[in-house]
Amino acid sequence: ADGTTLPVEIGLSPVEIDGRPMVLASIVDVSERLRILRELESKTRELERSNRELEMFAYVASHDLQEPLRMVTSYVQLLARRYRGRLDRDADEFIGFALDGANRMRTLIGDLLAYASVESGGRELAPCETNEALQRALANLRATIEAAGAEVSAVPLPRVWGDVAQIARLFENLIGNAIKYRSEAPPRIAIDCEPEGAMWRFDVSDNGIGIPPEFRERVFVIFQRLHSREAYPGTGIGLAICQRIVERHGGWIRAEPASGGGSVFRFTLPAVPA
Ligand code: ADP
Repeated sequence: ADGTTLPVEIGLSPVEIDGRPMVLASIVDVSERLRILRELESKTRELERSNRELEMFAYVASHDLQEPLRMVTSYVQLLARRYRGRLDRDADEFIGFALDGANRMRTLIGDLLAYASVESGGRELAPCETNEALQRALANLRATIEAAGAEVSAVPLPRVWGDVAQIARLFENLIGNAIKYRSEAPPRIAIDCEPEGAMWRFDVSDNGIGIPPEFRERVFVIFQRLHSREAYPGTGIGLAICQRIVERHGGWIRAEPASGGGSVFRFTLPAVPA
């Protein structure tokens, strides 16, 4: 009546009243619903943009930090080579600390770079053999597997719709962890696989120290670790990378208790569409 326009939704439903066919009309003012929808869309766009920026920042920062770090590392190495035993005991110890710090920072920056480039650095998803990914992971872990006397067994593995290099990294992180967080018993790692709808579900089980139930979600958060660096070395980025890889493939990953007291890392990857 006052000339204002507003969005409405009109519904017409056939009804029968006293045996006579009628139409029930309802006109609803949907301005509030549309306002919320627009707000949600704009917030989502904003979130996507800030996520992209954050990823870019992490990538550039970790990439650019590598160069000065290389310089620090090589000069501290030079100091160690040239002056070890020629200064006093304190100096040797300080050089040792500096080298240790530089090495840790190199691992941290490398892991951060890997984390930041899961989206941007990945190859386009295509049919690929998960067995090939597993073999690549095992080849990279050969020295670790031998040193720990670990045994890794796997059922025949399927083709999936994925990025073989990233799936290899996924297996490498999970099997590497299964060995690192081993119990007294020699590490036994089993890889299982079952179809689950349009996905394949993989289980990487170990007989290691296990994860208390209250930490089973938290271990996937970047930098979250359950142990001190002295007890187990690490950066707390490995499982966060695993989660990003699996989510890039449209799957999920979670940690569960294994029957023998260890852990099962369970994740899904898409099957190759028929
Ligand atoms: P990192 O190994 O560098 O600490 P991760 O992100 O790979 O980082 O793992 C996070 C934490 O989850 C580890 O610090 C460890 O406490 C726990 N964890 C991971 N894998 C296992 C496993 N197979 N068994 C027991 N604990 C594990």
